[in-house]
Amino acid sequence: MPAVRLSPALKTLKPSATLAAAAKAKALKAQGVTVYDFTLGEPDFTTPEHIQQAAMAAMKAGHTHYTAAGGIVELKQAVCRYYEREYGLKFDSPQVLISNGAKHSIHNVITTLCGPGDEVIIPTPYWVSYSELVALTGATPVLVPTTEASGFVMSAEQFAAAVTPYTRLLMLNSPCNPTGTAYSAAQLEAIARVAVEKKVPVLADEIYEKLIYTGSQFRCFASFGKDVADLTILVSGVSKAYAMTGWRIGWTVGPAEIIKAMDNLQSQETSNPCSISQYAAIAALDGPQESVEAMRVEFEKRRNYVMGRLEAMRSKYGITFAQPGGAFYAFFNVSASFGKNLGGGKVVHNATEFCTALLEQAHVALVTGDAFGAPGYVRLSFATSLDILETGLNRIEAFLAGV
Ligand code: PMP
Ligand code: GLU
Repeated sequence: MPAVRLSPALKTLKPSATLAAAAKAKALKAQGVTVYDFTLGEPDFTTPEHIQQAAMAAMKAGHTHYTAAGGIVELKQAVCRYYEREYGLKFDSPQVLISNGAKHSIHNVITTLCGPGDEVIIPTPYWVSYSELVALTGATPVLVPTTEASGFVMSAEQFAAAVTPYTRLLMLNSPCNPTGTAYSAAQLEAIARVAVEKKVPVLADEIYEKLIYTGSQFRCFASFGKDVADLTILVSGVSKAYAMTGWRIGWTVGPAEIIKAMDNLQSQETSNPCSISQYAAIAALDGPQESVEAMRVEFEKRRNYVMGRLEAMRSKYGITFAQPGGAFYAFFNVSASFGKNLGGGKVVHNATEFCTALLEQAHVALVTGDAFGAPGYVRLSFATSLDILETGLNRIEAFLAGV
């Protein structure tokens, strides 16, 4: 009998830290404990009614079979209409690939463009799956650190300095998970100019494009001219803006030859994304958009509440943070509490220990910044009700106070 042996790439692959933290919180809940769970970044709202109706109509109409591997042309056209309506950008359906969520889209891009010996530039803090998916291809993640003082923005100069002859891709996420950083148009354009000058393709992960707060603006990375668009692969989807995380629809929009290569890959690896979800996504993109703004407004209220509470904790407990311009995460530095007596007499030495102790002691679940390449930080998702946020933050504050 040959022994079971994992492939070398899988031996070192870590599980998704966000999903692992959520599973830990769920396991505690299953024991009957009330857990204040701020791990997952997923809207707590129900998918809008007209989108659900479109899914039911699709089932009744018999759209319950395989579709083209890269998605139905009607949805690709709806994606094209969306970019033209929202940003005045013109794309054709051969420039669009529909996948099983934006995470799958990101995996497709990296697998299609990168392999052993290649380098991928990733500003830190970064979303947990970026570096793992790069490493899975045998390519090397080149991490560019950003600071809280700069609002966690990577400058064009930092980007230029990180480029080598082996660079195959820049992964840029604005608004950013976990920091909430929304790059300004000027900052994006400066980065875009370096990308063109040095001929570096850019994966622009814009999944939080509709979650932008007062004082910040969103600018689509492909909007800085044809030379930039020719190097840009946009990633987005319906998960965040339309509260459709479970439907698993994401997309890539970019140069047709890259889209074609990813279509080939997808045809071998997964076939099409769910047929019913694709019809629901058309209704999301083409239908009434009021619910998108209503959810954004609600997220902004929660953001402002959380920022107020963290501000009060800044002076008392030395936590630090930058204001999120978008997405639904608060990302704060708790390293001032390391080595001190926290709730229940717990003493911690890093953010991972902090999250474990906070969960055990206060039943509050956060995600450690270690998973985002940001030691000392923790991430709180505020995609949950104000009541739950209030109690959870009371508990965090009591834990910091050593109660
Ligand atoms: N990119 C970022 C930055 C994310 O936070 C997420 C998490 N949802 C995704 C992509 C993937 O989204 P989904 O697969 O749900 O479409
Ligand atoms: N992107 C969300 C998060 O960071 C959902 C979980 C995941 O896909 O990793 O929490």
